Amino acid sequence: MIQEKELVRGLSTAEAERRLKTFGLNELSHKKRVSPIIIFFSQFNDFMVWVLMTATVISGLMGEKADAITILIIIIINGILGFIQEFKTEKSLEALKSLAAPTCKVYRDGNVQVISAKNLTLGDIIILESGDRVPADGELVQCNSLMVDESLLTGESVGVNKGLGKKESNLYMGTTVLKGKGLIKVTQVGMKTEMGNIANLLQNIEEEKSPLKERLESLGKVLVFICLGICAVVTALGILRGNDLAEMFLLGVSLAVAAIPEGLPAIVTVSLALGVSRMLKRNALVRKLPAVETLGCTSVICSDKTGTLTQNKMTVKEVYMNERIYNVNQEKLPSNPMLARAFVFCNDTNYNFGEKDVEKALYGDPTETALIKLFFREIGALRGFLSMSHRVYDIPFDSSRKMMSVIVKENGKETCYIKGAPERLLERCSHIYEEGKVKTLTYQKKKQIISFVEAMSNRALRCLAAAYKDSNLERGEDLEKNLIFIGVAGIIDPPRPEVKDAVLRCRLAGIKPIMITGDHKNTAYAIAKELNICNTIDQVMTGEEIEVISDKELFSKVQKTRVFARVSPSHKLRIVKAFKKNSNIVAMTGDGVNDAPAIKEADIGVSMGVSGTDVTKEASSMILMDDNFATIVAAVEEGRTIYSNIRKFIRYLLSCNLGEVLTMFLASIFYLPTPLAPIQILFVNLATDGLPAIALGVDPADKDIMKQKPREKTESVFSRGLTEKIMVRGSLIGVCTLLSFLVGIHFGFDLNTSRTLALSTLVMSQLIHVFECRSERHSIFEIKFLTNPYLVIAVCTSITMLCLILYVPFLSKIFHTTALTIGQWLIVLFFSGTIALINSVYLYIKVK
Ligand code: ATP
Repeated sequence: MIQEKELVRGLSTAEAERRLKTFGLNELSHKKRVSPIIIFFSQFNDFMVWVLMTATVISGLMGEKADAITILIIIIINGILGFIQEFKTEKSLEALKSLAAPTCKVYRDGNVQVISAKNLTLGDIIILESGDRVPADGELVQCNSLMVDESLLTGESVGVNKGLGKKESNLYMGTTVLKGKGLIKVTQVGMKTEMGNIANLLQNIEEEKSPLKERLESLGKVLVFICLGICAVVTALGILRGNDLAEMFLLGVSLAVAAIPEGLPAIVTVSLALGVSRMLKRNALVRKLPAVETLGCTSVICSDKTGTLTQNKMTVKEVYMNERIYNVNQEKLPSNPMLARAFVFCNDTNYNFGEKDVEKALYGDPTETALIKLFFREIGALRGFLSMSHRVYDIPFDSSRKMMSVIVKENGKETCYIKGAPERLLERCSHIYEEGKVKTLTYQKKKQIISFVEAMSNRALRCLAAAYKDSNLERGEDLEKNLIFIGVAGIIDPPRPEVKDAVLRCRLAGIKPIMITGDHKNTAYAIAKELNICNTIDQVMTGEEIEVISDKELFSKVQKTRVFARVSPSHKLRIVKAFKKNSNIVAMTGDGVNDAPAIKEADIGVSMGVSGTDVTKEASSMILMDDNFATIVAAVEEGRTIYSNIRKFIRYLLSCNLGEVLTMFLASIFYLPTPLAPIQILFVNLATDGLPAIALGVDPADKDIMKQKPREKTESVFSRGLTEKIMVRGSLIGVCTLLSFLVGIHFGFDLNTSRTLALSTLVMSQLIHVFECRSERHSIFEIKFLTNPYLVIAVCTSITMLCLILYVPFLSKIFHTTALTIGQWLIVLFFSGTIALINSVYLYIKVK
């Protein structure tokens, strides 16, 4: 066996780097990335684009060369825009994947380091704890009650006990630690591992399709048929009127290309991906893209207390022993060697040997380090005590039992030390250690201790009791019975300062914040009350109460409950189910290995980036990089913003496209000359569909987005009047464009000038409408333009493009336009602006 010292030194960085070069990265077969060239060409892999190209080439051959070349250039520019979008989306999703990549704890250069699992190499010493995914094949070199789930390899879902014996000492990549702790020395990495042999089981970030995107795709198909139908009518009527066949065909196809909202699903992905990177800036890492949509519907957030609502900065504040409570900050704690031993020995805190400062060198569960910090001085020789070598046996802490036990050998004598939730320990104690003497623990005394603990809990203290007994393991006696009670430590863990505000924001947004904790009812209540999560003690329910009621009763009780205390992970699953049955969309946090089922069951499973286990991270759809409750609320806000932005650009794109189609359709059924040439239609598509729509996708949140109720998950994206808005506004754009064309003809302008009027009116109406789309409830006057500078830039770019094709002689020749005079611009602005003005005044009055 390797010596302890050698173990905790691990490899040196230089040696690890050398080995990494020799043995390669610890990765299973890499998925091939889609090459940018393929992404570029896929932009043109669209049936209608091919038809348009063919029509263009034919018309080019028949004479209209300039037109044909310009159309091809427009198609290519459109393709480049699409490519940039898709490439950026790919890149940011790629970056997210690498962020979500697994990490592990290893000893390197004598320190514990958290490294990316892919940088592991042969000989590395990995620290494994319950909930960890084993990152490479390795051999156990140290082991404490280690149990591993190897079902991924063997298919058998029974936990396998591991030990330093021959066969049980091998651990395999991809398996998970269910219980205990251990150190392994890496023996194989990457494709050479057992897992490498069955690499098809590779667990990647799941690439689920967004339901909204799917729905939009199927809507897109319907719209394609409608558009094609209308375009066919426009083309046929044109031909019947004796217009040039090729010209009419090109017109029909151009209209189809412009009107079919083929970009819609793509923009959904872009805005989801952009939203995901915005969320990351606010410390929420989304693992599954569809979760972004669901986040916006969240109506209940069930949150752990420790570390999520509180700071997880634990300090022992009070200690109960010898029949009284000591306030650690105000008085000196009398010596109590048994209490100090129990809290220091029965403790899994690790020690960083590379660090000089003793307090900084301690790392591990903050509850446990808090105990060590208070009691180690009494014991001294901290390093020695912390090393696991003198521990003979242990039962690790587990949140269902709420206890931890160890047997320690000191001077040849074995003693069992236990720490855990006071009431759990008290029921196992028969004696008490007071003033250095062991006495019988009477019923009266137990009651007295319980009332002291209640008083401490009422002061929001997290209480841990300690007990001991001589070890009787060999006699087969139950280790955790007939214990000698020693005392209780009351630990303060202050709430995170930002949580109170986040709770208030939840309330305003119609979301119920719920606390779920393993802690004592009174402690939970005290903290929940301080955070405004609950007001009265009858809003608190305990695990014991949950245990004795049926699912049906729980279903009705959860409605009024705000705090669940002393719960086990198994209760969490029932709680999620009960909330879901009440038609809630539930976000649920979890960190421990046993939380995974509840996290999976929740609509949004949330895991902890800092303290979470690999298993919960893999089950979750979102990881909180800072373990903070406020981050969930921020993510919900982003989720709502993204959804509302998706609605914004759907509204914009569809009403604009409707306007375009209607202009042409009305003209053809009323036997009017065609108001727009094919090349002009394509120009409108280029100038208005791309940049402004994407800019809408990154619109900042509406100021009252967190003041509305959560939307229903089943709600259609067109609900709440969106269809009407699209229909009315789209029709008005179409009618106004046609009217401006007719006014041109009425004033005796030539066809090109009238068409230029129509073209400019169409572009300008859309560019004005894009600002209207920024809010569903507020008028254009109330929107602060500069809050979305991208949109302002996009719109200015589009206007510049329009001016270029009107005033640059070479371009105006290609686009068959004329240089509009000021008077003609007034006509354009009248037709494009009036509707927006009327609509805004109406909204302004309605909202006031
Ligand atoms: P949350 O779910 O909010 O994180 P929690 O961290 O308070 O809750 P647990 O970690 O399950 O929940 O702790 C429940 C109880 O178990 C605590 O109140 C404490 O009495 C006891 N306990 C906590 N940590 C330990 C530990 N390391 N060893 C022994 N007992 C512990």
